[in-house]
Amino acid sequence: METIAECIENIIGAPVRMLEDLDEPQEAFVENRNQWDSSVILRALINMAPPDTLRLLGVTSRDLCVPVLTFVFGQAQLDGLVSIISTARLKPEFYGLSASPDLTLERACKESIHELGHTFGLVHCGDRSCAMSLSTHVGDVDIKNAEFCRGCRSFLRDRVTAALADESRPGREKQL
Ligand SMILES: [Zn+2]
Ligand SMILES: [Zn+2]
Repeated sequence: METIAECIENIIGAPVRMLEDLDEPQEAFVENRNQWDSSVILRALINMAPPDTLRLLGVTSRDLCVPVLTFVFGQAQLDGLVSIISTARLKPEFYGLSASPDLTLERACKESIHELGHTFGLVHCGDRSCAMSLSTHVGDVDIKNAEFCRGCRSFLRDRVTAALADESRPGREKQL
């Protein structure tokens, strides 16, 4: 988690605060798929975000899905408050390969940056090396970087600067 936080501070450029583990919203469990509906979790996260939250990123090892997709690596509210990533399918062992915590972490950083990018209004990018490029397979995650391309980076910088300025009123602690 510390590595993910560091990665976010470096690339998004906003301070990160880690929260205590949050309760899992049981209503998000989809029994017949043995997965968790990420849209339902996102709705629950909105209510769990401390009042001074700039953006909230949930990190879970549960396998996430949405009704129309077999699985998702993560999901975010576009230009919104909350986002989530799942490490379930970022682990090499999910694909029958030997475990590599470093690789899992590297992928988790990329997906965290991607989902947080959405919360700052970024949409999918055609540059396959950009963090905002869409990943539908773990191979796509490995192709891209945790960093943004030039265009996405400049868009994000403006949005983050504006968000931080807005949250910097006296008495409001910044948080990502
Ligand atoms: Zn996306
Ligand atoms: Zn881009």
